[in-house]
Amino acid sequence: MLRLSLLGVRIVKAVTVVPGTPASIQLDDLPEPRTDDGMLLVQALALGVCGTDREIISGAYGWPPPGAERLILGHESLGRVVEAPPGSGFAKGDPVVGIVRRPDPVPCPSCAVGEWDMCRNGQYTERGIKSINGFGAERYRLEPDYAVKVDPSLGMLAVLLEPSTILAKAWDHIDRIGQRTRSWSPKTVLVTGAGPVGLLAALMGKQRGIEVHVLDLADTGPKPDLVRDLGGTYHARTLADDFAPDIIIECTGALPVLVDVMKRVGSDGIVCLTGVSNSGHPLPFDFGGFNRHAVLNNTVTFGSVNANRAHYEAGAAALAKADRQWLSRLITRRVPLARWQEAFERRPEDIKVILQFEPDAA
Ligand SMILES: [Zn+2]
Repeated sequence: MLRLSLLGVRIVKAVTVVPGTPASIQLDDLPEPRTDDGMLLVQALALGVCGTDREIISGAYGWPPPGAERLILGHESLGRVVEAPPGSGFAKGDPVVGIVRRPDPVPCPSCAVGEWDMCRNGQYTERGIKSINGFGAERYRLEPDYAVKVDPSLGMLAVLLEPSTILAKAWDHIDRIGQRTRSWSPKTVLVTGAGPVGLLAALMGKQRGIEVHVLDLADTGPKPDLVRDLGGTYHARTLADDFAPDIIIECTGALPVLVDVMKRVGSDGIVCLTGVSNSGHPLPFDFGGFNRHAVLNNTVTFGSVNANRAHYEAGAAALAKADRQWLSRLITRRVPLARWQEAFERRPEDIKVILQFEPDAA
């Protein structure tokens, strides 16, 4: 729908919040963004909703752009290019996903080489999260260097790219750490948590030809079948005591799970932590036992967050070769813009919820 302001500027609907203020979320009419926000003009198709969005909505996280009160929410994007200058590498109609994090302006040694996901001074910015407007608007702009083309045959499923990049990075770093021994040839991966992040971790493990195990609390709902249909083994709540996988990708941040996985990984094994825990809840933990296990078995436990351009490319490739039917089952609710509030509600059987700006073409 075309809406024009009195000055002839196109008006777009956008989901905004006042960071730090609970329940400030609303749907605003805003002028279409100007070219200084990026040379590509993009029509939004869908926006994925995740825990970070709900944290921002609750007032616990997020920063507005400098000089602004409100932040346009949303970082899991999918859009279609409406305007692209010649020579930009993009053309009208291209489906694109926007990169979330931008390098700090200093830049630190990591940002200087394009690895802004490894930023060392914390001065990076993030669209829809930290100091730059997000993708939760009918139209937004992207710089060509921060736009990633996706396989058109994915349709709306390409909205899963941003969460996929988190796992593309996790697997990239697992592969690199594994190279410390010439004999590295992992056979089994345990993924803890069967939310969108865990299921995408499992997908990429399967694509590597590794035996996949997924642990989650749910014993009903779509998760057990999604894991089995991937060819993996689903564990509801418990694992056998002697199960010692080569790789563990921890996607829950839940303390009892963390305590278990750090001592469970097998010899020469690697534990990748991707779930963010709440702090301030001390728990009895046998650090001596953890140390003995880590030293005597050469294990590595590392944390991983965010993604750089190479991980967007890798994530896009992983989605492109995935089974479309299986991917579509990860999106458990598709909410039209007219009912936008529902997209930010949490319901028991949700895996990934998306806000749709246009009806599904596929
Ligand atoms: Zn940096």
